[in-house]
Amino acid sequence: MPTPEIFSLSGRSALVTGSSQGIGLALARGMKEAGAKIILNGRDEAKLAEVAKALDADHVIACDVTDHEAVRAAVDAFEHSSGPIDILVNNAGMQHRTPLEDFPPDRFEALLQTNIASVFHVGQAVARHMIGRGEGKIINIASVQTALARPGIAPYTMTKGAVGNLTKGMATDWAKHGLQCNAIAPGYFDTPLNAALVSDPEFSAWLEKRTPAGRWGRVEELVGACVFLASPASSFVNGHTLYVDGGITASL
Ligand code: NDP
Repeated sequence: MPTPEIFSLSGRSALVTGSSQGIGLALARGMKEAGAKIILNGRDEAKLAEVAKALDADHVIACDVTDHEAVRAAVDAFEHSSGPIDILVNNAGMQHRTPLEDFPPDRFEALLQTNIASVFHVGQAVARHMIGRGEGKIINIASVQTALARPGIAPYTMTKGAVGNLTKGMATDWAKHGLQCNAIAPGYFDTPLNAALVSDPEFSAWLEKRTPAGRWGRVEELVGACVFLASPASSFVNGHTLYVDGGITASL
């Protein structure tokens, strides 16, 4: 296939979980520009409707990705009525910052459900259809915390480590069915999830010094990795975690 056609997403449908803002929205926008039909997801229906209008998105699946039955029903209904989901980006996630000795158990549980269990729930629901077709792309959003810890976010670090390993497990079980399952591990990006860090000049100063690129990432800078992993260009890439972090994990 000639370049750049190998990066084309034309005729493909992509579901991006947690795409009403931040990284998910940027990835949805980028894949739309690469030719994909976009299916937005989040819990807040009003916000999703607004974003869908602005983005001219093709579909919306409003559901809580921690709810196994709701996810299964929504994915099956979509596949039945609107056609195949060719690309899945498991992006929905949350953060909670508290020293580990004081970490509230309910926040620990919420992190487990939102950052790990959701990847299983949506991944399984979509993969069952992909397996039947013998092709599909799954991209899980990991983090630099897949490799490294930071004070006050031990449970988040645990969840993102698990996303890296669940990606390897998906690839191991599903590559033989024609699926490519990979992860993108972003460094630090200015999104609502990081609002507390973005507004903290001390953190920004630390980050700029710690990051070889010397700055925060821009969400559009994750699009190239996503289009690569969603397109025919990555047909023999499986179980990989692609760090897009300005070099943080390459350097001490
Ligand atoms: P945001 O908080 O800005 O956005 C999170 C999105 O997920 C929202 O659209 C939210 O919509 C949705 N969401 C949250 N919980 C659920 C749920 N249970 N069901 C469905 N949708 C849900 O986060 P970011 O864009 O910053 O982060 C996106 C992903 O990237 C996360 O997995 C995060 O861990 C990861 N990441 C982010 C980094 C960064 O620097 N920002 C760095 C590394 C990784 P709604 O509330 O309406 O449901």
